[in-house]
Amino acid sequence: MAVPKRKTSPSRRGMRRSHHALRSEAYAECANCGELKRPHHVCSHCGHYDGREVVAEKALKVSVRI
Ligand SMILES: [Zn+2]
Repeated sequence: MAVPKRKTSPSRRGMRRSHHALRSEAYAECANCGELKRPHHVCSHCGHYDGREVVAEKALKVSVRI
């Protein structure tokens, strides 16, 4: 089994962890209702995508309740 020759120093450990920070989540404004939504996803507020209604608003309200 491969075993490290030396203990990782606090500096090395910090350098490794410098890449571990979380990025902020991407968002975009819905062209139809202006609500914030995830890019390339159907709007969860009005059900529109690419300028047309994909999911009926009735269906959205039902899914929100559950
Ligand atoms: Zn919308």
